[in-house]
Amino acid sequence: MTVLAADTRTKHARFVLTPWSIQGAANPPTIERGAGSFLYDTDGRRYLDLSAGLVAVNLGHAHPTLVEAIARQAARVCYVTPALGNDERAEFAAELSELSPWAEGGRTFFTAGGGEANEDAIKVARLVTGRPKVLTAFRSFHGSAPGAGTLTGENRRWPTEPGLPGVVHFFAPFPYRSPFYTRDAATETQRALEHIELVLTYEDPGRVAAILIEPVVGTNGVIIYPEGYLSGLRALCDRHGILLIFDEVMTGFGRTGAAFASDRFGVLPDLLTFAKGATSAYVPLGGVLVRETIAEGFERRVLPTGHTFSGHPLAMAAGRAALRAYAEGDLFVRARTVEGWLREGLERLKERLPVIGDVRGVGAFFGVELVKDRATREPLTPWQGTSPGPLPALQRRLLELGVYVFGRYNVLLITPPLIVERDELELGFEALERALGEIDVPA
Ligand code: PLP
Repeated sequence: MTVLAADTRTKHARFVLTPWSIQGAANPPTIERGAGSFLYDTDGRRYLDLSAGLVAVNLGHAHPTLVEAIARQAARVCYVTPALGNDERAEFAAELSELSPWAEGGRTFFTAGGGEANEDAIKVARLVTGRPKVLTAFRSFHGSAPGAGTLTGENRRWPTEPGLPGVVHFFAPFPYRSPFYTRDAATETQRALEHIELVLTYEDPGRVAAILIEPVVGTNGVIIYPEGYLSGLRALCDRHGILLIFDEVMTGFGRTGAAFASDRFGVLPDLLTFAKGATSAYVPLGGVLVRETIAEGFERRVLPTGHTFSGHPLAMAAGRAALRAYAEGDLFVRARTVEGWLREGLERLKERLPVIGDVRGVGAFFGVELVKDRATREPLTPWQGTSPGPLPALQRRLLELGVYVFGRYNVLLITPPLIVERDELELGFEALERALGEIDVPA
């Protein structure tokens, strides 16, 4: 096939392997630049980035503080082996210790992304406890390469199977679709904690190194755990000498209206993984923040893990600049203002559109769950069904209307950059109202 003279869209389709897609079916617009809350394609069309990419571009696009810092660092040094020191790496790790939820701070092991961070976190937990097993929730996503893929609690795990031995899944609360047969939040919490205690009994708590959990479930539906669940997990971990790991890959860096969801909900993990918002996704970066009381143990023993890109200077410079930009705009606090706008706007849509069954969220992190029938809560398309249902067509329609939205099955993720303006959100609500209004469900 000769495509040398073809346009970029044709070349993209021909040569790029696009994740999670039947290759022949993927034909998205080609984005060539971004600014603030908007992306622009090669035809000059503008799209509101209503999901901040994959819930990652927390500072919006082309933020000058980051652009300048990355360019400056590129001119100084682009790569320094992790075995040598680097000024930006030292400063960024110290700043992360300061930002961490622990009074005594922590140390960071840097990775190139979130999945890798989760793999390193469970490696550390197994080393520190000397125990083999790890518990993670169903309806969780922790990454897709075989290690992190095994930790994932849904169908994106299946292609990685049989995967890592020693990973056990449990059911966590989901107030809108309770796996515990209740619509009462307190009962949901109580039954979910009893359930995990029972799982531990059958797995032997003395053989469990860690419980790894997203403090707010991201791509599995933006699920906010009911009051008492995360603190209940903390207590259970303490009782059994199990380490609690928060996967803050999506929730970190202001997404929930605090530096970390750990701060927003007042529950301390032992290890915390991050990625995405750490550099506002400008440069690939992930990491494991390890509480000082655990990290100091590696003063006297080998930390047996490493990656070529661990602590990459461009990512370090971008991360430091992102922290400056978050602070200058007071953006972790601003996310709570955005929370109010999102709640008001999306609830308004829910009043008008019977296809919206539930609106839930915290900070700038909202899910819109689509249903066939509000009374029965039957999903517009079944979760984990063999087809993605009407979602791809809905996303294409939204792109036509100038809005990019990320989603899975029957849940849309409305997670704009933290710098989004209210009138920009209104453009998004208008497009959502039109596109969702075209879906035929009984009123
Ligand atoms: N953990 C969570 C909660 C995520 O949402 C993701 C990606 O969306 C990951 C881990 C994987 O991160 P990455 O794609 O950077 O490997």
